[in-house]
Amino acid sequence: MEKQKAIAEAEKVLYKVYNRFPVVFDSGKGVKLYDTDGVEYLDFCAGIAVMGLGYDYPGFNDAVKAQIDKVYHLSNYFYNEPSIEAGEKLLKASGMDKVFFTNSGTEAIEGALKIAKRYAYNKGMGTDYEMIAMKHSFHGRSLGALSVTGNDHYQIPFAPLIPNIKFADFNDLDSVKALWNDKTCAVIMETIQGEGGIYPATEEFIKGVRALCDRSDALLILDEIQCGMGRSGSMFAWQGYGVKPDVMTTAKALGNGVPIGAFLAAGKAAMAMEPGDHGTTYGGNPLVCAAASKVLDIFEQDHIVDHVNEIGAYLWKKLDELKEKYDCIADHRGKGLIQGLEFTVPVGPIVSSALLEQKLVLISAGSNIIRFVPPLVIGEADVDEMVKRLEAAITETVK
Ligand SMILES: *Cc1c(COP(=O)(O)O)cnc(C)c1O
Repeated sequence: MEKQKAIAEAEKVLYKVYNRFPVVFDSGKGVKLYDTDGVEYLDFCAGIAVMGLGYDYPGFNDAVKAQIDKVYHLSNYFYNEPSIEAGEKLLKASGMDKVFFTNSGTEAIEGALKIAKRYAYNKGMGTDYEMIAMKHSFHGRSLGALSVTGNDHYQIPFAPLIPNIKFADFNDLDSVKALWNDKTCAVIMETIQGEGGIYPATEEFIKGVRALCDRSDALLILDEIQCGMGRSGSMFAWQGYGVKPDVMTTAKALGNGVPIGAFLAAGKAAMAMEPGDHGTTYGGNPLVCAAASKVLDIFEQDHIVDHVNEIGAYLWKKLDELKEKYDCIADHRGKGLIQGLEFTVPVGPIVSSALLEQKLVLISAGSNIIRFVPPLVIGEADVDEMVKRLEAAITETVK
């Protein structure tokens, strides 16, 4: 379909909740995307931190295709081997005790919140407990996930949400302590805030919250949907802090684009819910689990996390140089291959120029932060090329 026609058709049929860029992507290879005119783009967005292995990673597509030809859906009332394999590999990678596969990140958050509620209920706290979430967090768009997402703009039109959620300041332990009382049953936060602007938790904060939870038998829920799966330079970002959550969520890069998420629980939290408490029709079906299982194999065999540490350091150095060079860049944050540059100006025009003129796919986080969440398999030449194109976009748009 011709591009303008495709865009017009899309606007006719798709519910308008996105302002999309005028690009129609058609295929991908490695860390490159191609539009319907065959134009090549360098992808530093990775479908928002999803395509960790990029497009067409050796062996991945074949593994998914092979499962399609065998069987790709069964009810969760029966066992299937791909889910056992994916589950075992995920537990091994995380050190958690139990896993539940979901269709998305948001749904993993829903399950994590239900564990916290059930755990409190089992303890005899009734239903009158409280949870603490963080300001500027992002946990998803369903009503439960939205309830713990500290963003008025997203929340207000959809009130009332789940009650008894209080919001603390991320990386401010005193603000958590100030909200704490004997009804507090859980704390939920991202280990590295993504949408909120790429803010890694400080070690002091995450350890402090862990200690508060331990003292009160409250659950620590860490959302690793964006920062997990090797992106931070550890398989899961919390592993780089020497703390362990009671419940964690993952999704995005878990299936390398095949829609699968998971919540995982450890210790007593892994036994809080009972048969009948939770379920899903599609979640954990053989197709998505075969994909996740293959992703986890590739991570191990091809040392993806080691690569992230190397190339993440290179990206860090290059973005630091940019920060020194341009007055409009105020801050540089992140870890591994989840990094952000905060600008003193709105980044919309830069991101748009990068895409449309420079053929570089980037995304923002908030109005003045550019977020770098490329495929984990990028090389130094990709970083150099990205920087060149980004500089051109900055010079073009920031006067
Ligand atoms: C993307 C994201 C979610 C929501 O995941 P979906 O798959 O879009 O439902 C939740 N938490 C974090 C930290 C995310 O980045």
